[in-house]
Amino acid sequence: MQPDPGLQPLTALPGVGPALRESLARLGMSVLQDLWFHLPLRYEDRTRLVPIADLRNGEPAQVEGVIEAVERSFRGRPQLRVALGDGSQGTLVLRFFHFHGAQLEQLKPGARLRCYGEVRRGQHGLEMVHPQYQRIVGDEPTAVEETLTPVYPTTEGLGQKRIGTLIQHALARLPDEEQLELVPPSLRAGLRLASLRKALLFVHRPPPDADVSQLLLGVHPAQQRLAFEELLSHHLSLKQLRNAVRRQRAPALEGDGALRGQLLRALPYALTKAQRRVGAEIAADLRVSEPMLRLVQGDVGSGKTVVAALAALNAVEAGHQAALMAPTELLAEQHLRTLRAWLEPLGIAVIWLAGKVQGRARKAALAAVADGAGVVVGTHALMQEGVEFRQLGLAIIDEQHRFGVHQRLALRDKGREGERIPHQLVLTATPIPRTLAMTAYADLDVSIIDELPPGRTPVTTVVVSSARRAEVIARIRAACLDGRQVYWVCTLIEETELLQAQAAEVTHVELSAALPGLSIGLVHGRLKPREKSAIMDAFKAGDIAVLVATTVIEVGVDVPNASLMVIENAERLGLAQLHQLRGRVGRGSIASSCVLLYQPPLSQLAKARLNVMRETGDGFRIAEKDLELRGPGEMLGTRQTGRLEFRIADIQRDAALLPSVQRVGEALLAGYPELADRIVARWVGASARYAGA
Ligand code: ADP
Ligand code: MG
Repeated sequence: MQPDPGLQPLTALPGVGPALRESLARLGMSVLQDLWFHLPLRYEDRTRLVPIADLRNGEPAQVEGVIEAVERSFRGRPQLRVALGDGSQGTLVLRFFHFHGAQLEQLKPGARLRCYGEVRRGQHGLEMVHPQYQRIVGDEPTAVEETLTPVYPTTEGLGQKRIGTLIQHALARLPDEEQLELVPPSLRAGLRLASLRKALLFVHRPPPDADVSQLLLGVHPAQQRLAFEELLSHHLSLKQLRNAVRRQRAPALEGDGALRGQLLRALPYALTKAQRRVGAEIAADLRVSEPMLRLVQGDVGSGKTVVAALAALNAVEAGHQAALMAPTELLAEQHLRTLRAWLEPLGIAVIWLAGKVQGRARKAALAAVADGAGVVVGTHALMQEGVEFRQLGLAIIDEQHRFGVHQRLALRDKGREGERIPHQLVLTATPIPRTLAMTAYADLDVSIIDELPPGRTPVTTVVVSSARRAEVIARIRAACLDGRQVYWVCTLIEETELLQAQAAEVTHVELSAALPGLSIGLVHGRLKPREKSAIMDAFKAGDIAVLVATTVIEVGVDVPNASLMVIENAERLGLAQLHQLRGRVGRGSIASSCVLLYQPPLSQLAKARLNVMRETGDGFRIAEKDLELRGPGEMLGTRQTGRLEFRIADIQRDAALLPSVQRVGEALLAGYPELADRIVARWVGASARYAGA
């Protein structure tokens, strides 16, 4: 076979010495094809000059004008403000917080500048903060760029210009179509895929007549060709991972059912049919020495915890340990309490291992884990240095989407003993449409709990303008007087914990004033874990009537007496998140409701999305609807779903590609494993290959 031109070292390119090689290595690039497939993150449109009068808030633009005034201010943070005019209506303010002497020299009234940046609404009209700019000297009009400018992911010490040039050098060595294309013609038949070679050239240097809007949305056939291959490579790598795990061994865990029987008898309810079915699927997996890799998908409230507990007991019955890892301390603590209540009466130690367990307590916990304590519950602290299990047979991970595949593998490796690894069980409430699941979780077997425990009353959802806040507060009062409890969820678009906490504090003060005589609690991410759990305990015990919370309560919290939830700024949250939040009510037998407060005016899309929440409580339906409603416009800039990060593909936008990705993937693995390896290497890269899988 001919040597693969894509595998030539980057040092074969002109000008790549040791320093540059180092920077490139930091980006995971070492061979020529790494540059070919280093795709633009986005494009900047410098093909035209936008008159200042036409600038729009929030949009990037290129403008050219003359400096009309310059102002330096020293009060507070030093800053430089430059007013730019171009003869159209209005001025644009350029604002700099860092600047040096040479810049002050350049930025003088009368100078002509061409700038590129994002337009924002400032105190005194439109502005650009730290735009890229260039002085235009002389009166001759200077040409604008002919093509969209690609912007590449890069690293410190490697500028856009430099990496762009390198990529162009690398592209000069692209082989011909036959050599580049790795999907055999027989498998490509009927797929209408664009040429891979042309696609690469196109995305790296879009021609002047390229369809700009298609390109910006990522739906150009060239981009779709690349997205296809990227999805294919991820699918292949997950399948390979799965197959590699299959070749390893796990302890066969065949319990006698005694402990499970005891727990089942102690529960105040019978398992649903779905819980029993999934429990049996897990038990069958555990019984054999091929490692289990199973995902349990079940809507919020479907009762995943007890299924997980039964699996853990299966391991304990067979003389092994089980570990349960949750993404947040709040959720992990909830599990701890539940499992202690269930398992300690059976004589099983449940050990707590979280970041806040320190000093002597940590030592004792570690000793117990090393000594073979039956069940260990914790956060990612479970995977830290110093945690040694005696015999981990089963690793359970709750709320999978918060963890990456690497963290999952790390927990598994904690329990590795030579060639033996623990079985793995992953729990998620994220309802993903089936086609997506097959790609996002191609390395896992999937069980679905498709039934809620009986006696749940569906949650009635209403969509209410924030102008009617007073009515909502009156409704809270009525519910509390009736002995019910209420969640009030504050959300903010700014994702910082500080701002979220502040918004929640303001609401807490407001509700305390509006609801005298009721006990109003507050919980947010900036509280100490101990404070958080004290408040949650008080709420559980019924000592707090109204709990004002940030989205920290999103997962896992279980207070059956809470029957009303108010979610502020609901229009800003994703449907999946709203669904998760709403799942906190309707857990008991009381009729429950959820008030989605929005800030008017509501866009058509926002209205349609909130209506979906009103119409259905089924997580899978909500996910499908969400996918349907979100046009590609909403997807701009979001390239990742859960644990998958892509260079160009968007698993939702490109969902239509998935069936063929799966078909081609299977055929490649079956008939052309070597080509499959080469496709994976191109995209996933040797460095990012899941080590030790
Ligand atoms: P999730 O799937 O969201 O993690 P949980 O495991 O927290 O759900 O269960 C939600 C609630 O339902 C808990 O209070 C749990 O005790 C209860 N539950 C679980 N299974 C059943 C069942 N078969 N019948 C009645 N209640 C159940
Ligand atoms: Mg749960």
